[in-house]
Amino acid sequence: MNYKVAVIKGDGIGPEIVTEAQKVLDKAGEKFGFSLDYKEVLMGGASIDVHGIPLTDEAIADCKASDAVLMGSIGGNTSTSPWYKLEPSKRPEAGLLALRKALNLFANLRPAYLYEELKGACPLKEEITEGGFDMMIMRELTGGLYFGERKTIEEDGVRKAYDSLTYDENEIRRIAKRGFDIAMKRNKKVTSVDKANVLDSSRLWRKVVEEVAKDYPEVSYEHMLVDNCAMQLVRDPKQFDVILTENMFGDILSDEASMVTGSIGMLSSASLNETKFGLYEPSHGSAPDIAGQNIANPIATILSAAMMLRFSFDLDEAADAIEAAVKKVLEDGYRTVDIMSDNMTKVGTKEMGDLICERL
Ligand code: NAD
Repeated sequence: MNYKVAVIKGDGIGPEIVTEAQKVLDKAGEKFGFSLDYKEVLMGGASIDVHGIPLTDEAIADCKASDAVLMGSIGGNTSTSPWYKLEPSKRPEAGLLALRKALNLFANLRPAYLYEELKGACPLKEEITEGGFDMMIMRELTGGLYFGERKTIEEDGVRKAYDSLTYDENEIRRIAKRGFDIAMKRNKKVTSVDKANVLDSSRLWRKVVEEVAKDYPEVSYEHMLVDNCAMQLVRDPKQFDVILTENMFGDILSDEASMVTGSIGMLSSASLNETKFGLYEPSHGSAPDIAGQNIANPIATILSAAMMLRFSFDLDEAADAIEAAVKKVLEDGYRTVDIMSDNMTKVGTKEMGDLICERL
């Protein structure tokens, strides 16, 4: 099989880490009998430098014409880069928001996985993390409080601000289906998180999730209030498989879940639409402080590439192999500087990519 992948290398460490992910993908292709045609697309600062704007119509068209998008990260040093002297709608990040919108990416997936070898970086007590944890946060990305009507007024000399949290049943149904589909590829458990004891939008969320659950008899599901979920994530993260939640709760819980894994350079992510199409990128930024030094950790991007194989191309076996190769490299004691610890072997970005390829 052949797939078309739009590649946005981006800014800062982006080009270095995406190059390693492509190296690993090509090696996986040789082994598992698929090939990828890459189309390089400019976005963010790299696009501003060439076109004067962070995202062109041509770039959007190239992404739409692909089966998936693989991205590094965009943006520069927000205090010193000339990109941040431009008006907000012309800055690098505006390109990413516009691209997400143009591609209708409504489902954001962020795995939080604790590697046995990196347990030392986890801030939780050992008795809690014994045996590790492996969960996936599925966050609704295009609705809810962040996209609702808002205004600030003054009434009798008192300033007052409104933000509205709205979901219709179709928005809830499409993300819930995505959540249950992902659970079918994992441990078949969904925890739907809401605040149904207070919010109408959460009560509708709960009802629609229950309707969707009927189509997935193999998946067990439960509802959990968001405040309880925030506690359970640090009390007993092992209990979770897929956490399904709305935009703002997901924003907060996904950061909490990723922090308990301990390392920013290891965290992958995906944003999906209603089809198999997705945009895959590391959770971290463009790290301009370490760009061009061959020291950035490429693993988050490599794991994002594995997610692309799994969720956009259904190449689960190849995705499993990449994840296993990452694990093996860590077991063998190799570390980039961000995850370095005593008695381990320090390697650079390229070497880490090569070591993962060797173990595929
Ligand atoms: P950042 O994630 O880029 O960096 C935070 C810290 O983590 C830095 O010290 C950096 O060196 C380190 N780090 C990040 N990724 C690493 C990796 N793979 N290996 C080793 N160390 C790594 O966050 P920031 O400094 O707040 O932002 C820098 C730029 O990235 C800004 O312009 C910001 O807007 C942008 N950004 C982009 C995205 C995206 O493209 N989706 C996301 C977040 C931030």
